[in-house]
Amino acid sequence: MQVPSHVEYERATSVEHALALLGRPDHRVLAGGHSLIPMMKLRLAQPGVLVDINGLAELAYIKENGGQLRIGALARHADLLDSKIAGGRYPIFHDAERVVADPIVRLWGTIGGSLCQADPSEDLSAVFAAVRATAVIRGQDGDREVPVREFHLGPYETVIAPGELLAEIRVPVQPGTGSAYEKVARRVGDWSVAAAGAVLQLDGQTITEAGIGLTAVAAEHFVAAEAEDYLRGKPATEQNFGQAATIAAEHCHPVADQRGPEDYKRHLVAELTTRALRRAAARAGAPA
Ligand SMILES: Cc1cc2nc3c(=O)[nH]c(=O)nc-3n(C[C@H](O)[C@H](O)[C@H](O)COP(=O)(O)OP(=O)(O)OC[C@H]3O[C@@H](n4cnc5c(N)ncnc54)[C@H](O)[C@@H]3O)c2cc1C
Repeated sequence: MQVPSHVEYERATSVEHALALLGRPDHRVLAGGHSLIPMMKLRLAQPGVLVDINGLAELAYIKENGGQLRIGALARHADLLDSKIAGGRYPIFHDAERVVADPIVRLWGTIGGSLCQADPSEDLSAVFAAVRATAVIRGQDGDREVPVREFHLGPYETVIAPGELLAEIRVPVQPGTGSAYEKVARRVGDWSVAAAGAVLQLDGQTITEAGIGLTAVAAEHFVAAEAEDYLRGKPATEQNFGQAATIAAEHCHPVADQRGPEDYKRHLVAELTTRALRRAAARAGAPA
């Protein structure tokens, strides 16, 4: 099936207008449309009314404010790739955006849409989990904040309730931090076979905090929590990175599909986690 069923269309003129429209049953946010429209064509999604938020310039920004990186939900992948503020603080964003889809998708697809789609293969879900971001969800009664590590309830399901939209993603800016993202895909612009993102905060040689996000391998909340626990308080060495990567590979739950068998995906998790940790440590200023 390649033709969506009948759907009404509303163009929101302000965030308040969008929230008023979304309060009605069967209304759904349309951002870049790169995930929603294909799902409608396949009849996997059948909204009654699309609420187009593309005119809401007040949700399209990337800035640093009050010790936090603030990314509006309507910022595009291309904006994140271009942002010196975001890439300067967290190179993991640029690493990931270079390998998300292709330039056409990146020009139109949004950061908010990526998180709200909750596709298990979405690269930015693992990235925002690794950097311990917070999602700001707006409803008619105001804002509520949810850690990205609690934002996804399962495949294609988030904590956003009817009548709400994702407004902003906040990332704490920490000194002494390095980060990196490593992905393997079957061809350029494709979804991950597997990918790993790492964030390390160092005090000298000692790891004071670690964030590890995994893509497309069914890690709980996109996170390798046991590997993070292992690293905390230990020196940033190859041996510890290798052990943490082994733990990450043991605790995720990849499934065999057209992108590869389970054991290959676990092998990729171990290898990509090691590489991401190594590069994150170098970027945090650890001696080679
Ligand atoms: C050919 C192709 C290749 C791709 N490759 C990759 C890849 O390699 N890696 C990757 O990570 N992604 C990939 N993508 C997905 C891409 O990143 C999309 O941009 C992203 O999934 C959805 O963003 P969007 O703005 O298009 O959202 P939409 O399609 O508009 O919306 C997606 C979902 O999120 C909801 N939504 C959107 N914004 C909000 C909001 N602010 N508040 C509440 N709900 C909201 C919508 O209602 C819908 O349910 C690919 C897409 C295509 C078409």
